[in-house]
Amino acid sequence: MAVPKRRQSSARRDSRRAQWMKTPVPAASPCPNCSAARMPHRVCESCGWYGPAKEGRVVVQPKDKSSAQNNASENQ
Ligand SMILES: [Zn+2]
Repeated sequence: MAVPKRRQSSARRDSRRAQWMKTPVPAASPCPNCSAARMPHRVCESCGWYGPAKEGRVVVQPKDKSSAQNNASENQ
């Protein structure tokens, strides 16, 4: 069985594992519901929308509204 002749140095190992830092950030696209900047294939952070304009729906309540609702339910 083939075996590596030399152990790889830590610098070589770390430089290999640091390659992900070179990859560019995916381009943000406007949300079809509120047109805010949104990562592709992610839920919109500002309105909670996921999917195209016709087929999509609000799957997550926005953070501000959900926290307000939670506070209101806790107070009651
Ligand atoms: Zn949105």
